[in-house]
Amino acid sequence: MRVTILGASSGIGRPAHTTSFLLDDNTLIDCGTGVGSLEVAQLLRIERVLLTHSHLDHCGFLPLLADVHAGHNGPGITVHSQQATLNAVKQHLFNGVIWPDYTTTPSAEAPYVRLQPLEVGDTVALSGGMATALPAAHSIPAIGWLIEGEWRALAFSGDTGPCPAFWQWISQVPSLSDVLCEITYDDDHLEQARRYGHMAPSLLAPLLDPLPPAAHLWVSHLDPGEEPRMMQHIRAILPPHLLVEQLKAGVTMEL
Ligand SMILES: [Zn+2]
Ligand SMILES: [Zn+2]
Repeated sequence: MRVTILGASSGIGRPAHTTSFLLDDNTLIDCGTGVGSLEVAQLLRIERVLLTHSHLDHCGFLPLLADVHAGHNGPGITVHSQQATLNAVKQHLFNGVIWPDYTTTPSAEAPYVRLQPLEVGDTVALSGGMATALPAAHSIPAIGWLIEGEWRALAFSGDTGPCPAFWQWISQVPSLSDVLCEITYDDDHLEQARRYGHMAPSLLAPLLDPLPPAAHLWVSHLDPGEEPRMMQHIRAILPPHLLVEQLKAGVTMEL
């Protein structure tokens, strides 16, 4: 399975885009502004979105993606996430006020946006493997995703503060090669990190012990413009043996 990062930042400001990853050509993890880089033909091949949570930087382009399917007679999209997240998406995005309710259009039986609830531990079959919903600890209901391809596996934390269950879970995955983890705050803002359910380097460092030694850590959710300073800060605090890189649009992985 091929993974293409379309965006992995916490905000916008060229060249940054917010979170959206393309799995092969038919599945998205999150639907932030990164998805706007795809051409119409590519957008029409998207069959499903694995959504971590309902914050706008992760789901804000979902209405526009649905609109492409509606406008071009596309097959529509299935959105997989927790019930609370799907309720928020329906109530605040597809509410008939700020955007048409594509969860009931063109018909309630076969809408352009199909909301498919799941719980932590549930799986979604993908064309090139399998996705499993993972625990997370954010300011609102949120999940991460484990993506298992034919040879390797990737774990994405979504937006989360320290969540030992996430790290315990992924440490049991023998094929784990890449961990995509958010670090939103530096260590001068630990209080904000705790309050808003985000990670800072010294909150993450103690959780990394169970990781396989060869696993590659990719840092997501950095503030546009702050990346060089943050990466220097992060590398100074995380264990020196760890392979740590910034996750950004254009990065690809083969699982
Ligand atoms: Zn976010
Ligand atoms: Zn968030």
